[in-house]
Amino acid sequence: MIFDILTIFPHILDSYLEDSILGREIKKKTIRVRFHDIRAYSEDGHKKVDGTPYGGGAGMVMTPQPIYDCIKAVKKKNRGAPVIYLSPTGKLFDYKMAKRLSKKKGLILLCGRYEGIDDRIRQLLVDEEISIGEYVLTGGELPAMVIVDAVTRLLPKALGNKESAREDSFTEALDGKKEYPHYTKPRVFKKLEVPEVLLGGNHAKIDAWRKKHLQ
Ligand code: SAM
Repeated sequence: MIFDILTIFPHILDSYLEDSILGREIKKKTIRVRFHDIRAYSEDGHKKVDGTPYGGGAGMVMTPQPIYDCIKAVKKKNRGAPVIYLSPTGKLFDYKMAKRLSKKKGLILLCGRYEGIDDRIRQLLVDEEISIGEYVLTGGELPAMVIVDAVTRLLPKALGNKESAREDSFTEALDGKKEYPHYTKPRVFKKLEVPEVLLGGNHAKIDAWRKKHLQ
């Protein structure tokens, strides 16, 4: 799966991708994550990427030309990938959406800044708009990374047996419910004991207990 992330801050997420599971999946080539600097596409002499809003009002708006050219260039390298604009007004991201997106060969993730993008980009080139929650962040980079992370966990080649996403919260295996509580060593911690049934090795009983404790 190829993720192309279009942003004016192409290095803001570097460290997150270097470590842990995402870093490993990049090394394994399960995923590729490429950043594209929207500013590099600006035809403005000062490489400007924002302008004042027509109609007045506070804040700046991202100008269409650099985004348009950037998307057009990236689409050639990631054919068939939908262009997704991260936006607080988009459809709320959830497990089902992550599952659907995990079946694509690639995703093009457009990150806004300032008051957002010139609407003509939405009209011309955006296939989908996704919000990661009903609050407003300063930019679309964290939402893009949320999608990369959630989608990667669902790729068949990602995660080992130990980290399997198959029985995570919201999955079909758990009937869309949130998962049961987990315990590990020690058996007693701050006077709280691990439930007896989990210590016995009776898998039918353990399964029944876990089913009962789905949240
Ligand atoms: N003026 C916009 C509004 O009121 O809806 C907010 C713009 S926000 C400051 C700048 C950028 O951050 C947006 O263009 C979008 O890419 C991103 N963003 C902010 N909150 C988001 C969210 N909840 N989900 C997805 N993207 C978000």
